[in-house]
Amino acid sequence: MNLNEYPAEPFRIKAVETVKMISREEREKVVKEAGYNTFLINSEDVYIDLLTDSGTNAMSDKQWAGMMMGDEAYAGSRNFHHLEATVRELFGFKHIVPTHQGRGAENLLSQIAIKPGQYVPGNMYFTTTRYHQERNGGIFVDIIRDEAHDAGLDIPFKGNIDLNKLEKLIEEKGAENIAYVCLAVTVNLAGGQPVSMENMRAVRALTNKYGIKVFYDATRCVENAYYIKEQEKGFADKSIKDIVHEMFSYADGCTMSGKKDCLVNIGGFLCMNDEELFATAKELVVVYEGMPSYGGMAGRDMEAMAIGLRESMQFEYIEHRIKQVRYLGEKLKAAGIPIIEPIGGHAVFLDARRFCPHLTQDQFPAQSLAANLYVESGVRSMERGIVSAGRDKATGKNHAPKLETVRLTIPRRVYTYRHMDVVADAVIKLYAHKEQIKGLRFVYEPKQLRFFTARFEEI
Ligand SMILES: *Cc1c(COP(=O)(O)O)cnc(C)c1O
Repeated sequence: MNLNEYPAEPFRIKAVETVKMISREEREKVVKEAGYNTFLINSEDVYIDLLTDSGTNAMSDKQWAGMMMGDEAYAGSRNFHHLEATVRELFGFKHIVPTHQGRGAENLLSQIAIKPGQYVPGNMYFTTTRYHQERNGGIFVDIIRDEAHDAGLDIPFKGNIDLNKLEKLIEEKGAENIAYVCLAVTVNLAGGQPVSMENMRAVRALTNKYGIKVFYDATRCVENAYYIKEQEKGFADKSIKDIVHEMFSYADGCTMSGKKDCLVNIGGFLCMNDEELFATAKELVVVYEGMPSYGGMAGRDMEAMAIGLRESMQFEYIEHRIKQVRYLGEKLKAAGIPIIEPIGGHAVFLDARRFCPHLTQDQFPAQSLAANLYVESGVRSMERGIVSAGRDKATGKNHAPKLETVRLTIPRRVYTYRHMDVVADAVIKLYAHKEQIKGLRFVYEPKQLRFFTARFEEI
């Protein structure tokens, strides 16, 4: 491992938050009380929190200064105009509708762009995205390349859409029965895997041929852009900003969770070029979020978001971001820990199938692995496997995804390399006695998005 490959933090620390580690006995009690679900553990009881990179970002001094510039007028806030101008400049879309977070945008888009019975092809599903699509009568179809489902396969741009799968679906179902193509950059559940510019161009060309719209899930678009700069021919000398702009030039709009690449703690938005869709979106946003000029966000939140989105495109920031995640992944790999390869943009995913070969998938190996890692070390992670995938709406059977993973998600600008060392050591220690990880069964299973609040017990 060449430590020179990893840049030091491109920031100085100006405010700190103290964390503490509770004892192993206490952690055992906590995990039992939380029903072996890391979502149900109190943050106070966590030492290093890698549950998610969503809304856990550290804001900059400039963003905090922006918070003081909040214009909390009910209508026409100047912060909305700042956000709108920023998104127009950076993404290139004509219209922006603010929402309280990403799923608010997904709710609006699914309602205005899906007719019941229509198909919504996408490069692997995301939990809330698919939920809103299905709730509005859409039928999700996974058209990601096959390689994305193979955890150990180390190839670039594993998030790409398989164009043959897309064209076959269009030919079979008819273009009029495709609501739109949902293209995620990067693909969260595939392990934070990026999509190449070449693939985005090809998807645009194919959908243009059939008159089908393409909406991006833009949640981690800046992380995706870094991979393009680093790994795709012809982009080494381009700025992150220019790459992001080109990516969106092949889309009709996007949904955005501001809680990730906008470097804030809450917020989101929906973008589109189409005037008619925009008019409908504005009618609906009033019902679900708020006025079209705040959409569930405070003025100060929109200000911080506009500033954060611009900061995220600074090369030094995004290089450190991607490489800090890679540092953790490389450490684990060197110790023989099975992880999803290549290492993704926002998280390292442990491959629970290979970590716990003694458990079957219906014993929820990833769920149990996450709970055991917490007991081992006070490090909180999250299941991304059969529990997250939920049940098939029609048959009631569990979706059984090929990827059964535990996600170690790194918050942006929050932890140091030394924290990554502590996490790596904890995982390596647990791997040494992995046979002791027991299977789980449900004691409470919610009907929707069950992973958030489900409870389990050890078998
Ligand atoms: C987080 C996320 C969303 C949903 O956004 P929220 O802000 O959590 O509502 C959608 N898509 C992807 C890929 C995400 O990671």
